[in-house]
Amino acid sequence: MRVSRLMLVTLRDDPAEAEIASHKLLLRAGYIRRIGSGIYAYLPLLWRVLQKISAVVREELNAAGALETLLPQLQPAELWQRSGRWAGYTDGEGIMFHLEDRQGRELGLGPTHEEVITALASDLLRSYRQLPVNLYQVQTKFRDEIRPRFGLMRGREFIMKDAYSFHANEDCLKQTYGQMDQAYRRIFQRCGLRAVAVEADSGAIGGSASQEFMVTAESGEDLILAAGDGRYAANQERAVSLAPQAQPLEAAPTAARIPTPGQTSIDALCEAHGWHPTQLLKVLLLLARFEDGLQQPVLVSLRGDQQLNEVKLSNALSLRLAAEHGTLLDLQPLLPDEAAKQGLQAIPFGFLGPDLSDAVLLGGKSWAPRFERFADGTATDLKAFICGANQRDEHCVGARWEAFGGAPISDDLRAAQPGDRCVHDPSQILEASRGIEVGHIFQLGRKYSTALEATFTNESGVEEPLWMGCYGIGVSRLAQAAVEQHHDANGICWPTAIAPYEVIVVIANVKEEAQVELAERLYNQLRLAGVDVLLDDRPERAGVKFKDSELLGIPWRVVVGRGAADGQVELVQRCSGEKQDLSAEALESTLLPQLQLERRGIPLAEAP
Ligand code: ATP
Ligand code: MG
Repeated sequence: MRVSRLMLVTLRDDPAEAEIASHKLLLRAGYIRRIGSGIYAYLPLLWRVLQKISAVVREELNAAGALETLLPQLQPAELWQRSGRWAGYTDGEGIMFHLEDRQGRELGLGPTHEEVITALASDLLRSYRQLPVNLYQVQTKFRDEIRPRFGLMRGREFIMKDAYSFHANEDCLKQTYGQMDQAYRRIFQRCGLRAVAVEADSGAIGGSASQEFMVTAESGEDLILAAGDGRYAANQERAVSLAPQAQPLEAAPTAARIPTPGQTSIDALCEAHGWHPTQLLKVLLLLARFEDGLQQPVLVSLRGDQQLNEVKLSNALSLRLAAEHGTLLDLQPLLPDEAAKQGLQAIPFGFLGPDLSDAVLLGGKSWAPRFERFADGTATDLKAFICGANQRDEHCVGARWEAFGGAPISDDLRAAQPGDRCVHDPSQILEASRGIEVGHIFQLGRKYSTALEATFTNESGVEEPLWMGCYGIGVSRLAQAAVEQHHDANGICWPTAIAPYEVIVVIANVKEEAQVELAERLYNQLRLAGVDVLLDDRPERAGVKFKDSELLGIPWRVVVGRGAADGQVELVQRCSGEKQDLSAEALESTLLPQLQLERRGIPLAEAP
């Protein structure tokens, strides 16, 4: 391809709309353009990158025995109602775009495809003899994200590879899950990415085990907690750890109420009274909204130094209430003015104790008149503690669970933190790093097959629901994650395996006959040898063209300049900046073996 025909528009300055390096660079180098919030055009250069990533994905999945298919993006509401996910995906913080057709039937634009594929499986898979099968597609997904941002990282329309497997038993599911894990590792390695596998929360998709693949990067939205020994790594949403030891509270025969005017935070209380945060009980008030309309006040006790993990609380709440009240639609901290709007004045915000009476909810307009109470293990483990006295400007010192009728059943609700000791080995400490989630694999079990009645006849002639797994890769997010991991001050440094072009031949001065002639010859020679090559034939200054080639991130640059008359060219490696002069004759034999290696995704030697 000739750069003069590439519709290349590069920007010198950082666009105001972009915050992180990869987003800025993709815009500046002419890979993407924003069309609307979370909606991007993939320009020809990026499309080539996406095609290369998809090709790697296809090769590895085909090798693992998966079959490619293409499922509809328009999905009837009825399928989602049968799985029980319609309300969760369309109401509250639901992310499914949905619409009504001319007959008044409701449809959703596919954010994911468990429902569609399970309906197909129920139709097509009848006997254990057909199992296992694994189907995948590479397709545009739609999600009305609450906060679309960072360009392709969190789009409202993006490209995903999603795969779904069906099995006669759990062992077989686990085997395929393991094969997909291996295939994913190869895919990311071949794409030149440093990625780590971490334990993950299964979220709205449901099911049991799940694992995310994170591209490590400072700008990543996810916090990864990992042990130094490499034996444990998890997304913070899911991570477990041992909490630091508490400082026991001096024994006192009875609890005493003391004045704590205006001291509504753990910090303020510790500062005023010289307490340690681990001696306090933190009582949080939240409001959960369920599918059937239930608005449920939730009271959570944690030890004073601990933070609530809302994902863990959502899971615990769903376990307790979803069977009766449907999907948990959202969960938010409850603020004093919302209580006032309910007509509830009696809640002593800032001074809550775990024994706060349900009576404070009486007379509310729409909330359930009793609390759902939860406690983290760090709270229930306390023998004696300081907590709010349920009375403005008062706390209780030396409170004990016995006085409240015994410690409540505890759940793990605390957020694991960097520096915490590990559960598998307390001598190991959790360390934090940031990651971009590029893939997620799940053992779904029988949740969808049961809901959508996708059954098969087993070896004994008995019908039972299919076992399922599902496996996603964010193809467009992966492209940007690669830039986030591989760039420098001058631009992108694509790993060769996914670079839009592998080599750019730059004519230093298009007015020089000898340069044009040699460059054209090398360009054609490389094309014939199967190299993805660009020819920068623009009538620009050489410096401009060098800058553009660096911004674009083409792995190898061949400069045809003054030496052309003597058959000499310069070869520059983008990631290391290393230059070498060589004869045009030697170019092919130097470059081709190197490209062969790089296409297989060997780690970039000196990549930034
Ligand atoms: P996230 O937690 O980042 O919102 P998710 O867990 O909802 O993602 P999955 O349902 O697991 O995402 O989707 C599979 C993959 O699709 C993710 O691992 C991610 O790489 C990609 N992906 C998800 N949402 C987006 C998005 N809005 N834009 C781009 N890629 C996305
Ligand atoms: Mg995910």
